[in-house]
Amino acid sequence: MTQILKMQVSIINLLSGTASLRLRAMDTLFSKIIDRKIPADIVYEDDLCLAFKDIHPQAPIHILIIPKRPIAKIVEATTADQQLLGHLMLTAGRIATDMGVSDAYRLVVNNGADAGQSVFHLHIHLLAGRSFNWPPG
Ligand code: AMP
Repeated sequence: MTQILKMQVSIINLLSGTASLRLRAMDTLFSKIIDRKIPADIVYEDDLCLAFKDIHPQAPIHILIIPKRPIAKIVEATTADQQLLGHLMLTAGRIATDMGVSDAYRLVVNNGADAGQSVFHLHIHLLAGRSFNWPPG
């Protein structure tokens, strides 16, 4: 009986932990862009993702591709997100092609504040229209 109770508590903890991670991501300004509560220059949308111009572009083309399902950062993605992550990458490629920059573009995902992440809703930066250095800064 005690074992069953312990298992139930563990499951509740696990579920509430996952929920709070998802809630944190849902609170960001990107979820407000998804919900059209704040404006953005949207270039693409489907059932799974949204893409819009970065407000402080770091290249002539700077698009953010975000999942509608809230994931705070890439390290928190799970195997359940595998198809979604592939979809984001393919969407980035399609947008680059549509914008005529399929020959040269860079995709960036910052994970964590020390890596430059400032919005905790997963996003892929699509940068193009200038040359890029390697290693990146
Ligand atoms: P990161 O630093 O990787 O988390 O990227 C967040 C990006 O979101 C930055 O490049 C910001 O310029 C961009 N950003 C912040 N607020 C907005 C907004 N309201 N609309 C579009 N892009 C935004």
